[in-house]
Amino acid sequence: ARERSARADRLESLGQLAGGVAHDFNNLLAIILNYADFLADEVTGEAAEDLSRIRNAAERAKSLTGQLLLFAKREPTQVEIIDLNQVVTEADELLSRTIGDNIRLVSRPAAGELPVRANRGRLDQILLNLVINARDAMPDGGVVVVETDAVEEDGAPFARLVVSDTGTGMTPEVRDRLFEPFFTTKPADRGTGLGLSTVYGIVGEANGHIGVDSALGVGTTFRILLPSAAAPAGQADGPEHEPAPGHG
Ligand code: ADP
Repeated sequence: ARERSARADRLESLGQLAGGVAHDFNNLLAIILNYADFLADEVTGEAAEDLSRIRNAAERAKSLTGQLLLFAKREPTQVEIIDLNQVVTEADELLSRTIGDNIRLVSRPAAGELPVRANRGRLDQILLNLVINARDAMPDGGVVVVETDAVEEDGAPFARLVVSDTGTGMTPEVRDRLFEPFFTTKPADRGTGLGLSTVYGIVGEANGHIGVDSALGVGTTFRILLPSAAAPAGQADGPEHEPAPGHG
């Protein structure tokens, strides 16, 4: 437990550092984009093409700093009671379009409602990050299954989100570093290494847990437990604060 807490502290301070840097970069990028827009009215031909490349790079940088800010939890979010099943059902179309033709998406929301206390955008982000990772782990195609159900953990009710793929799986070394910010095994134009650290942050903020099982050449399963918002008062915080692997 002590080791995990040191790890959480390290992630927290990395998050703060990243947030500060991202904030400054965001402002500078806004200036670059602004001047690029002014210039766009004045240049033509090849210069206009160069300018549009500058603009595109700055836009991409801005979306990266946006992700960083989100990861650093700099942006306040509104929390409401949301049905996790509805989130999964409504994300289905977007996710299908994201994964491409050679991957099958199987969506299995549990019957009924699974109310959780969370921010809608962040739940979408969790789902999107996990499914994009599943897609990237299946370059030759495969199946990604998104499931939800209601579970009990130490007597407290949770809503569970399970995302599994039939992809490459990962080595124990990768498995150990998954949630570290900027840890990625993907080429620089594909991965930022912020996807899972963001997921980890969101789940922790919601007093949930995240666990992962992975086997090389077989696939990977992520399990996220979020405290049920249908819980009686006093139980909503769940059994422990620290996200712990291996649940479910
Ligand atoms: P990114 O996707 O930008 O690399 P993430 O934080 O989302 O950043 O993931 C970190 C790393 O964890 C990935 O580069 C990959 O090596 C590994 N990973 C994440 N999800 C999976 C998965 N479903 N299957 C195999 N490896 C995965």
